Amino acid sequence: MNQPDSSAPAAPSSPSPAAALERLLEGNRRFAAGRPSRPHQSVSHRHLLEQGQRPFAAVLGCSDSRASVELLLDQGFGDVFVIRNAGHVLSPGGSALASLEYAVAELGVQAVLLLGHESCGAVAATVAHLRSGGELPGSMPILVERTEGHLDPAAPEDRAVERHVAGTVRDLLAASEIVAEAVGAGRLVVAGGVYGLHDGIVRLIDAEAFES
Ligand SMILES: [Zn+2]
Repeated sequence: MNQPDSSAPAAPSSPSPAAALERLLEGNRRFAAGRPSRPHQSVSHRHLLEQGQRPFAAVLGCSDSRASVELLLDQGFGDVFVIRNAGHVLSPGGSALASLEYAVAELGVQAVLLLGHESCGAVAATVAHLRSGGELPGSMPILVERTEGHLDPAAPEDRAVERHVAGTVRDLLAASEIVAEAVGAGRLVVAGGVYGLHDGIVRLIDAEAFES
């Protein structure tokens, strides 16, 4: 990680926040269609990045081995600032939130994508926990406690991944002044999406539609 003062971007890396989000979705369409361009993976690009990074987007995704962010969005080195944990959990004051704030405040990313995926084991574990109760071992309760509140208590399995992504979008905007201010000033767009394991497509979701 660069020192904040030396890595602060001089100018936005995309024409607009909407364009930054579209760049992610465009890459996903290339990937889903089986025509990835695998950008920014050459030796010369690697050398260019020795000078510093200026990613245009940040993604908080799940650690699931089937949901590799740069691959499914067809991005390369220096493009996307990625945070992953099991179930893309965003805890108040936690490292995922701090990392997203770093990406917004210091790296100047113009889009933040909260990316869930179909058949998420961490979300399924939360659904099972809501149904049966019981204690999870070790530190794993961290993985379900934030997710639980996003699900429908009457029907936890109902669109669980979508609800969790939507809830994470709302949590991010509520928990971070840095992020909320950047959105308010038109410097940043925050979006939620779900990756389809079968068709490879990332579908954006309307976070407000799932507001409880
Ligand atoms: Zn997952």
